[in-house]
Amino acid sequence: MFQKILIANRGEIALRVLRACKELGIQTVVVHSTADADAMHVRLADESVCIGPPPSRDSYLNIHQIVAACEITGADAVHPGYGFLSENAKFADILAAHNITFIGPSGDHIRIMGDKIEAKRTAKRLGIPVVPGSDGAVTEEKEAKRIAAEIGYPVIIKASAGGGGRGMKVAHTEADLEVALQTARSEAGAAFGDDAVYIEKYLQKPRHIEVQVFGDGFGRGVHFGERDCSLQRRHQKVWEEANSPALNAEERSRIGSICATAIADLGYSGAGTIEFLYENGEFYFIEMNTRLQVEHPVTEAITGIDLVHEQIRVASGGGLSVKQEDIKFNGHAIECRINAEDPRAFTPSPGTITHFHTPGGLGIRVDSGVYSGYRIPPYYDSLIGKLIVHGRNRVECMMRLRRALDEFVVDGIKTTLPLFRDLVGNADIANGDYDIHWLEKYLAKEE
Ligand code: ADP
Repeated sequence: MFQKILIANRGEIALRVLRACKELGIQTVVVHSTADADAMHVRLADESVCIGPPPSRDSYLNIHQIVAACEITGADAVHPGYGFLSENAKFADILAAHNITFIGPSGDHIRIMGDKIEAKRTAKRLGIPVVPGSDGAVTEEKEAKRIAAEIGYPVIIKASAGGGGRGMKVAHTEADLEVALQTARSEAGAAFGDDAVYIEKYLQKPRHIEVQVFGDGFGRGVHFGERDCSLQRRHQKVWEEANSPALNAEERSRIGSICATAIADLGYSGAGTIEFLYENGEFYFIEMNTRLQVEHPVTEAITGIDLVHEQIRVASGGGLSVKQEDIKFNGHAIECRINAEDPRAFTPSPGTITHFHTPGGLGIRVDSGVYSGYRIPPYYDSLIGKLIVHGRNRVECMMRLRRALDEFVVDGIKTTLPLFRDLVGNADIANGDYDIHWLEKYLAKEE
């Protein structure tokens, strides 16, 4: 097992990883920018190293400084959290070259999944159902038209190097296609320095359902069930739940086994998430994330398994603590992402939190790095905390969530808490009856 883990992140996830390390008796080092000197993860870590000024590229994305921090402190492993360097293959390779363990998959697996065309090809080869579309990149308009006619309109043009919902264009007719292809290519070229795009069928009312998988490092794969993250705004997840209100146990086990087998065949090591669109009982692969996800706590709530413990065990060569048959799904969990944002306009609301009171009681978990008197720096994303609620079933979970939201107090800044207080009382949400467009339509109506 590792002696000392360096946590290359900030905010709630840095604290989340730190807690897991403490439980396992592993020393912690955190790195931070000058803007985060008084952050909670810095206060609670055994050691901390300031690695640069506020902008991420000079601190949390500065590979050279992070490797130097490992060497100065003698850290033998790095947990990257999510975002920042968590899906940077070069970072994983550089750490390996310095004999420091990257707590995550190999650089090669990160690379494959970071290229969407390559990821889709790999998924297909491994028997994962994919969205019908072009077999690789498309450059010629004639070819694009032939493929679109074959799969049927509407179609979506997506950037191979895409991320964060950028570089995607929908074409409803052949007349739209030419412009969509050109715009997507020039946007992708400008945003990612790679103008490769591909075409797939545009699904009209899908849900976003993702499967949590793990490779144990010895060629075996398991799944931890799914999460439904259909409630999104501008492709950003807002509310996530496990299990999905749309799946039954048979569907769960079918898609879960397909994913677990694929992970085993790939020889993947560590945590991963295979994301699907789900429509009319069918799953369509869209991408795989080769890291821990923001929404992992809902899976932890229904399985009772600490996924960060498992990541650390696997990275250290100790394998998973559980086999597939040990993973049981109990009850229902919902996560609300609490952002420092105006709850209607979603504009950032940095500033000082004058009062911070979190809910408690059975089935409540709050993952947050903030506290009363904490000043939110304006340089990073606006997530200030996550409320995760567990109940024996979805109805109990929703009752408990409503009560927890009433108790939650964040003064001094605006947050998205009022949005969740509205959603928890909505009939469609109560019925689990929503798709990936539901939230945006709801917000447009409320304006
Ligand atoms: P990114 O990595 O940029 O987030 P994804 O491939 O994960 O890109 O897609 C982001 C979102 O775009 C999906 O969650 C979904 O809302 C929409 N989307 C992607 N592909 C399709 C498709 N074939 N049909 C309908 N919507 C899609």
